[in-house]
Amino acid sequence: MTELIDPRTFLLVANLLGMFCALVLWVQAKSFPDDIEGLNDWAMAVVLIGSASGLASMRGIFPDVLAIVVASGALLLGQFLLIVGLQRYSGQQPKWRPALDGISAVVILIVWLTYGSHNYQGRIFIMALAHIGLFSAGAVLAWRAKPAGFGSRFLCAFFVLGVAVAVWRLTTLSIAVDQTDDIFDRNLIQQVYLGMYSLGVLGLSVGFILLTNERLRAELEFMATRDPMTGAFNRRAFFSQAAVEWARSTRAHRPLAAITSDIDFFKKVNDKYGHHVGDLVIKDFTVRASHMLRLPDILARFGGEEFVILLPDTGMAEAMNVAERIRREIETHRDKALPAYTVSLGLSVAQGDVGQASDVEALIAEADAALYRAKQRGRNRVEA
Ligand code: GH3
Ligand code: MG
Ligand code: MG
Repeated sequence: MTELIDPRTFLLVANLLGMFCALVLWVQAKSFPDDIEGLNDWAMAVVLIGSASGLASMRGIFPDVLAIVVASGALLLGQFLLIVGLQRYSGQQPKWRPALDGISAVVILIVWLTYGSHNYQGRIFIMALAHIGLFSAGAVLAWRAKPAGFGSRFLCAFFVLGVAVAVWRLTTLSIAVDQTDDIFDRNLIQQVYLGMYSLGVLGLSVGFILLTNERLRAELEFMATRDPMTGAFNRRAFFSQAAVEWARSTRAHRPLAAITSDIDFFKKVNDKYGHHVGDLVIKDFTVRASHMLRLPDILARFGGEEFVILLPDTGMAEAMNVAERIRREIETHRDKALPAYTVSLGLSVAQGDVGQASDVEALIAEADAALYRAKQRGRNRVEA
């Protein structure tokens, strides 16, 4: 292998690629929304790890204090910054103090093992232990990171790989007992080890970039399909999902129910308590109504205090139950900080292909007509 690739060239190329990754991370940090945090920490981390590995490759040319001590410190600090970035990304507060104390202790130990006892084995042992600790923490954080998609799993896999490589380094340590204290001593293990870490940083960076892009995509999708005040679906998202449900229900000859709802005397709430309290009532309705629904049900805000609910695969009796449950839930005065209020609901059901409604819009128009009757007949009631 050493004849094939000069390890120093290999590390140089790997670190150059790392710097490109740092650039991508940094550009993303600039252009992404502020609530996606951690990208700056990762850019910094990649630069630190790259510099550390660059310094380490200069063993024999640079003095040991740079090539061993500073390089080890920078490597650990860089790896810790990966953790910091992931913590920030997940909305956690990074714990600097204990980590910096730990890193300082390791660096002091490295100084002693380098100049005091000249213990090459001990140094690699300590560093491998530190890597195992940091990468294990990274693996756990990556696994828990949201969204739990490919990026999170990819990132976690690379952290686990880092742990595995460090464990493998520990187990191969005894074989290399007689090796001299030289990183480029043609010791295949140490070269593979360094190379793996340089390439590993690329894998980690790609993983984190994937993760942050998945979150950005999820945020954009949320913004495009939701009403910002309540988080309920907006009209457009409702109709695009409803079209799918309509097609499914006619094809499978399954019933499809629609409930329209409108809060009673809502103008009075606004007039008496102010627009802000009115908004809180609308949010309160959204939360409590959605708790009465099942997973496939679609709750959308059509405007003001008017909501539409689509219930796939739901017949008249069941839809009536749901509407009545919502009415009773809202009637119950739970949040004493808000005024008591009630809601009227109208519902209609399309029986697969035999219903009267010819499309989703017609179905909702029927439910609206029922809602109008509910208002006429005294409010705080359900009409079908
Ligand atoms: P009814 O029982 O007949 O429904 O009486 P109502 O007073 O609720 O009448 P209506 O449904 O027509 O009232 C809607 C009011 O909701 C009018 C408008 O001022 C208010 N509104 C619309 N959008 C918002 C909003 O986003 N926030 C707040 N606070 N009020 C809104
Ligand atoms: Mg209204
Ligand atoms: Mg109203």
